[in-house]
Amino acid sequence: MSLKRRTILQMIPATAALSVVSGQSMAASHHVVVVGGGFAGATVAKYLRMWSNGGIDVTLVDKNSRHVSCIMSNLVLNGQLQLGDLSFDYSTLQDKYGVRIVQGGVRRIAAGMVELESGDLHECDYVVVATGISFDDIPGLDSRKIPHAWIAGEQTNLLRDQIREDMPRDNGTFVMTIPRAPYRCPPGPYERACLLADILRRRGDGHRVVVLDANDRIQAERTTFERAFYGLYRDIIDYRASVSVASVNSDERIVTTVAGENVHGDVVNVIPRHGAPGLLVESGLTGGGRWAPVNPTTYESSLIPGVYVVGDSQATAQPKSGHMANSQAKVCADAIIRAAAGLSTQNRERLANITTNSACFSPITATEASWLTAVFRLNTETRAMELVPESLGEAHDWNSENYSAMFDWSENLFADTFR
Ligand SMILES: Cc1cc2nc3c(=O)[nH]c(=O)nc-3n(C[C@H](O)[C@H](O)[C@H](O)COP(=O)(O)OP(=O)(O)OC[C@H]3O[C@@H](n4cnc5c(N)ncnc54)[C@H](O)[C@@H]3O)c2cc1C
Repeated sequence: MSLKRRTILQMIPATAALSVVSGQSMAASHHVVVVGGGFAGATVAKYLRMWSNGGIDVTLVDKNSRHVSCIMSNLVLNGQLQLGDLSFDYSTLQDKYGVRIVQGGVRRIAAGMVELESGDLHECDYVVVATGISFDDIPGLDSRKIPHAWIAGEQTNLLRDQIREDMPRDNGTFVMTIPRAPYRCPPGPYERACLLADILRRRGDGHRVVVLDANDRIQAERTTFERAFYGLYRDIIDYRASVSVASVNSDERIVTTVAGENVHGDVVNVIPRHGAPGLLVESGLTGGGRWAPVNPTTYESSLIPGVYVVGDSQATAQPKSGHMANSQAKVCADAIIRAAAGLSTQNRERLANITTNSACFSPITATEASWLTAVFRLNTETRAMELVPESLGEAHDWNSENYSAMFDWSENLFADTFR
């Protein structure tokens, strides 16, 4: 195993070193309700139970009975994986760690209270919100016809089926749009463009993948993706920077850009701009902004004390990734355990140790991948999480060894989150 690969695999449990509080020192009967059981929420629930030695009661509420991972979901598009391979129920969190699982949509959050769509109320000492992202409306866009496939599940299968059935054997056009940053998984859309080019190249001749990017440049792994777009896939990928979507004709599969150009595809994949879900907006957690501001030493909301926001919904400048969500969740769990035990979360030793990290593997072909990794550390003066420059790692190339390491890494992350 190469040093780089080993380093990435070792990154996942690294923040576990944060936990120093024993459950025995804690007053009994503290109760936390975690809303959302994705990479952030499931990790918070598990680590709250584990690091408090069962001293904190934890209820995890998710609208679904299982979480479907976005991570690796681009491989559903080329048939290498099925959604079942990426679906995780909450039985291990319940049986092994004693997390109480409730299935239901949440419609309102306040300090010490979570209200479900059913009208059920859950009272608690702390609320953790980890509900991911929602999308802006785009005039004419109907995601039942034009999938985003950026929250994994039915949308992913819909896009896979359209690629299989609606792309002609030769001379087809696949159109995809990339929203303005920050969005979930910075390299993800470029990875999807590469995989589509790979799928279509195997199918026939003369295909095009038109990428309309609202950003002025490739947002992650620029060296790698430029080499792929202008080298390996130069006859297929047509990458256009600074192109935003004004509207979509969902029946005709036409994207109209802000500049007034109509771009038609046999299959169209529009990923709208993201923000924190309406639940956070309506509960007063975004304060009129797009994301929820938090204290990055605890992930407690800057607006509602006692409510914590982790993962993609929160407003720090750290990348919106599942690996990062898992990492933030451990900082948050540690902070809540300390608060419940009446201990400070702001002592110098703890603050000096607050680090988070992110890793993304990007399949470039059906057998080769690249990767990107970064560590963030708390600046104890500004109280902001900052990139540790020397930690920024990028494969700069794609190969089969990275492709196989991608499965080890994702399995490790899935296990650390859901098992
Ligand atoms: C194609 C693709 C590839 C990716 N690849 C990578 C990668 O290689 N590495 C990486 O680290 N990240 C990757 N990501 C990003 C990663 O998937 C997200 O950053 C991560 O899922 C964010 O975790 P989260 O817990 O904040 O939100 P989510 O994982 O979206 O979880 C939110 C949960 O909240 C639940 N929920 C939402 N609203 C409610 C409600 N009102 N009531 C109850 N429950 C609710 C949902 O059902 C869901 O289970 C990728 C994303 C995509 C789309």
